[in-house]
Amino acid sequence: MKLVLATSNKGKVREIKDLCEDYEVVPYTDLIEAFEIVEDGDTFQANALIKARAVFHALDDKDVIVLADDSGISVDILGGEPGIFSARYAGADASDVDNLHKLMSAIAEKGVRSSPAFYTAAIAIVTKNREKTVHGWMHGTALSYARGEGGFGYDPMFIPLGYEQTLGELSNDVKKKLSHRSQALALVKKVLKRL
Ligand code: IMP
Repeated sequence: MKLVLATSNKGKVREIKDLCEDYEVVPYTDLIEAFEIVEDGDTFQANALIKARAVFHALDDKDVIVLADDSGISVDILGGEPGIFSARYAGADASDVDNLHKLMSAIAEKGVRSSPAFYTAAIAIVTKNREKTVHGWMHGTALSYARGEGGFGYDPMFIPLGYEQTLGELSNDVKKKLSHRSQALALVKKVLKRL
């Protein structure tokens, strides 16, 4: 059965392909033209479902499984911000670098150099007769400064629990083992087996 991803983000497509080798994994933009999806849910779970449902409804072929994810970082000292607003923290058209700088500044403005924080990933699975969602988390420390060039997004300012280096410094293999998306995808695999 085809696994259609409600994203065209190359990094996410690669990660999901690696973890779901038994399926034919295709971004939805290989099947239909990209369209705008308004993510106006209050939670990661709600936004993942909004995306998966929108893509499922837009596809002609209903014998597919659609997967959509929504993710972000929540920083304790900022009361959980940016949370579901992680992708647009520094504004609607903000780049990853803009968002990273805004979050480091927000932590520094609290007069600290670090704060407990965690990443969340929600993944929604939609088929013609089922809807399921799963979550994964990665806990650690968010810094008011960046270290390392690896990863993407907020990675250079995040040290996973049990490590001393940031995700910008750690290898991709280490991140794959720990990441919120990997945890959620491990659960997706279990759900897919039961569909
Ligand atoms: P999404 O594409 O709507 O899920 O947006 C996720 C936001 O959180 C983006 O700003 C990402 O840069 C950030 N984010 C999510 N997962 C990660 C991660 O594993 N590392 C760094 N940033 C992440």
